[in-house]
Amino acid sequence: MTQYIVSARKYRPTTFDSVVGQQSLTTTLKNAIATGKLAHAYLFCGPRGVGKTTCARIFAKTINCLTPLENGEACNHCESCQAFNEGRSYNIHELDAASNNSVEDIRGLMEQVMMPPQVGRYKVFIIDEVHMLSTAAFNAFLKTLEEPPAHAIFILATTEKHKILPTILSRCQIYDFKRMEVADIVAHLERVAKAEGISYEPEALGVIARKADGGMRDAMSIFDQVTSYAEGNITYRKVIEDLNVLDYDYYFKATDLLLEHNIPALLVLLDDILSRGFQTGHFISGLAAHFRDLLVSRDAQTLPLLEASSAEGERYREQAARCRPSFLYKALRLCNQCDINHRTTSSKRLLVEITLIEIAQCEDDSEACGHRPTQQLKPIFNHIKAAAAPAPVQEQTPVRPSQPSHTTPQAATPAPPAPTPTPRPAQSVTAHRPVGIQTISIRPMGKAKPEPTSTLPSSTSADASVAAPQVASTIEERAFTNEDLTLEWRRFAAALPEEQRATSGRMQNITPRLSNGWTVEVPVENEQVVRFMKPFEQAILAHLQTALHNSRITLKFNVVATAPSAKVYSRREQLEQIIAHHPAIGQLVSTFNLEFD
Ligand SMILES: [Zn+2]
Repeated sequence: MTQYIVSARKYRPTTFDSVVGQQSLTTTLKNAIATGKLAHAYLFCGPRGVGKTTCARIFAKTINCLTPLENGEACNHCESCQAFNEGRSYNIHELDAASNNSVEDIRGLMEQVMMPPQVGRYKVFIIDEVHMLSTAAFNAFLKTLEEPPAHAIFILATTEKHKILPTILSRCQIYDFKRMEVADIVAHLERVAKAEGISYEPEALGVIARKADGGMRDAMSIFDQVTSYAEGNITYRKVIEDLNVLDYDYYFKATDLLLEHNIPALLVLLDDILSRGFQTGHFISGLAAHFRDLLVSRDAQTLPLLEASSAEGERYREQAARCRPSFLYKALRLCNQCDINHRTTSSKRLLVEITLIEIAQCEDDSEACGHRPTQQLKPIFNHIKAAAAPAPVQEQTPVRPSQPSHTTPQAATPAPPAPTPTPRPAQSVTAHRPVGIQTISIRPMGKAKPEPTSTLPSSTSADASVAAPQVASTIEERAFTNEDLTLEWRRFAAALPEEQRATSGRMQNITPRLSNGWTVEVPVENEQVVRFMKPFEQAILAHLQTALHNSRITLKFNVVATAPSAKVYSRREQLEQIIAHHPAIGQLVSTFNLEFD
């Protein structure tokens, strides 16, 4: 009776070239051996089952080979190589630190370090799972590692590099082993199957490779398990049965149904999956993985991220071409959301059903978003930009202020018919306008009057004069509505610099209205507000005259009583209230130019 040897051992690589999936790393090691540049300590890091120990053994054999080949590999025939291959070489010592991590264990190993090799040149010490050594063992080992004899080479292997002390790391050459790719594992499994005379379906090996999650040792043991279950004929169907893997056909089918918005068929499909003993959580995470695979299949750049054989890849590409990226993003997000809520919900099936329905509908949304012309919003301020150019009144379409709080009764009602402009002889006016400090009201332009000495605070008056645009030298007298007026008033407020946001905010709460002639009445709550507004009066007036094409506009502040309880006061308004009752505080505020921040 022949002894059964597990495939992982039987097909363990014996040369660097036969190591699967770590080519750049094995090439580096071969070159180091060929050029004789050997370090005293190596650290092999990486996930389990990717070839760390295998490479360490090949390395040990190769550096001791008596007649190495030109390509840097061991000859596998010399006395040393044969001793290695038969497991009777004295030049290799292995310690599994996971189970032998005491200081005694490491001391036993270190005693071996001091004895030079009988045959060959090097003694190689492999310490697996080196991060598991106890602190005392670590310290004992560190002493030897600091001053190793010339014939000793240490190869430390770990799955958890971050647990290795810096004192060890700094003394080692570090090699990072990659997780193996599905295609590499499949190729290796194919070689083994052929050597063993086992028939197989390539996609069945793909399922095994994915199940192994990047570890060759796991892949080989799953392969052994499946081989005995499938009795020498590894089919896709037998593999998914044996490994309890949900057939990826289901995911392709579910995606097709989602794209067709066929919700009844989706719910039936889900029922079929659950009746086969699969969990809802298993299905939804598999579906998310499927969407992810579709997403990476869409772009040549991300295609390498798809871990699939070429035949499978073609199937992914075909379905991916029928999915919009926006659909895939949303579907992924919904699956992720479902996954998060899945643990806590008591009705898991319902949650998954709702998620499927939502995904089926999000394709609707994205289609609509993709094709429906975006709603054309009328730009609100277009005609203002063109205000410099004279335009007929009729073209000034009334635009409602965008802030709902600003809509006023008069803005909603149609404006009274504009008075027909009476033709007047064109007359030149100076750009100087009177500043009505004491009288509050502003006289119309043209009624020339010597400009009084300004008593405005110098800083704000400077601001105001800067903000005031140049007024046209000819008289304009175009009609405008209260809506136009409100709009321009608020536009001015909005354009005030950041330092003037108090004034801006105050202006936003005021709705001016046209009274007799071209007088614009500005209702304010009290004299205090009038004083605050005064420095801006000239600039506001200039803006209104220019923007509304009417140089006969005048401003009149009107103190009106407001219903005391109808209003929520802001901090600023509260201050104004206080100042109204205690003018001394107002003095304080204006003297020191105090502001809220
Ligand atoms: Zn040899």
